[in-house]
Amino acid sequence: MAEPVRKCRRCGREVPAGELSKRGLCPSCVLESVQEAVRQLREHRGPVYEKWRKAWEAANERRITSIIEYKKLHRGEKPLPELWEVRREREERHAAQAE
Ligand SMILES: [Zn+2]
Repeated sequence: MAEPVRKCRRCGREVPAGELSKRGLCPSCVLESVQEAVRQLREHRGPVYEKWRKAWEAANERRITSIIEYKKLHRGEKPLPELWEVRREREERHAAQAE
C-alpha cells in the first residue's frame, strides 16, 4: 500500500505524509525555516528572536524572584544554595500555599 500523500502547509507541495514535520512542513521548508531562525537569532531581530528574547527575560525574572524570596525567608541563616534548590523550594512553597 502506498504511503498517503499530504500537502506542505507552507509551499503546498505534496509529499509522503511521513516526510512532513510536526508543524506540517516539507523537508525543504523545514530547512528554510531553520535557516531563517538562525539568521534572526544572529541578527538580534525578527519575530523568532523576539519570542526567544521574551522567553529568556521571563526565565531570568523567575530566577531573580526565586533568589529574592529565598533571601527574605532565610536571612543569612543559610548560604545561597544551588539555583535548582532555590527553585524547588519555591515551587514547594507555592504548591503548599495553593492547597
Ligand atoms: Zn514546503
